[in-house]
Amino acid sequence: MSTECLFCRIAAKEVPAQMVYEDDQVCAFKDISPQAPVHLLVIPKQHIESLNLLTEQDRDIMGVVMERVAHLARQFKIHESGYRTIINTNQDGGQVVFHLHVHILGGRAIGPMVARSS
Ligand code: AMP
Ligand code: ZN
Repeated sequence: MSTECLFCRIAAKEVPAQMVYEDDQVCAFKDISPQAPVHLLVIPKQHIESLNLLTEQDRDIMGVVMERVAHLARQFKIHESGYRTIINTNQDGGQVVFHLHVHILGGRAIGPMVARSS
């Protein structure tokens, strides 16, 4: 756990969040600034800064994270209508919180896959 990291602190219950799932390896909570009717963040509890820092040792945990994504989509009843999953990495990817997380966005048509460049 990194004491500097917001999502580590959420996982450790030091910062409140609307937790929707938790076990010893992963947790999921509502995004504080939802961009869709359903906007969840799924994280490994262990601190992994970004996809760039993923190693062979993290294969199992990422499998657990993605299985949880699928489960939450069913739980929030967006699995049939559809949803988008996003992992932002570094500046051009729009990453703001440097603890690996998967966004789940659904409950409406999410629109174009990427913003038009200006
Ligand atoms: P990213 O741009 O992929 O790093 O996304 C970070 C996400 O974390 C954004 O969608 C924020 O709205 C969300 N966020 C920031 N602080 C909190 C918080 N305290 N609780 C829940 N979500 C948060
Ligand atoms: Zn962290």
